[in-house]
Amino acid sequence: MSMEPTARKTGACLCGAVRYEIVGPLRRVVYCHCEQCRKTSGHFVAATACAKEHLQITDAAGLRWYRSSEMAQRGFCSTCGSSLFWQPEQGDYVAIMAGAIDAPTGLTSREHIYVDDASDYYTLTDALPQFAGDHAELWGEGDV
Ligand SMILES: [Zn+2]
Ligand SMILES: [Zn+2]
Repeated sequence: MSMEPTARKTGACLCGAVRYEIVGPLRRVVYCHCEQCRKTSGHFVAATACAKEHLQITDAAGLRWYRSSEMAQRGFCSTCGSSLFWQPEQGDYVAIMAGAIDAPTGLTSREHIYVDDASDYYTLTDALPQFAGDHAELWGEGDV
């Protein structure tokens, strides 16, 4: 699997009531155009991911979880509303909204998923691979 170089990263919500550190390798950024991601972000989600044990919440004062589907819950700041995490029930990883990680992140982007659910007001013009639905290898072996 193609992973970004291991380095300590920090991130936070808009108001600072949620802060975290990532102490392991990160997945390249995946753009998700599904309806849930559109609703929660206001556009589409751009998320990296790391192993659960590599995400350390250093300030959880504002952190709340919303069960957005049978398969996952979403972490957000209850004070400022920042969308921060997507945590699947199955699997040992957590997706992290890339925009909340302090720049420079050193990340690059990998692909678009759920492009069939994208809204009609934008067009994808980059050269990244596009998948109609979920991508089987969101985490684990066989990164594209
Ligand atoms: Zn906040
Ligand atoms: Zn999505």
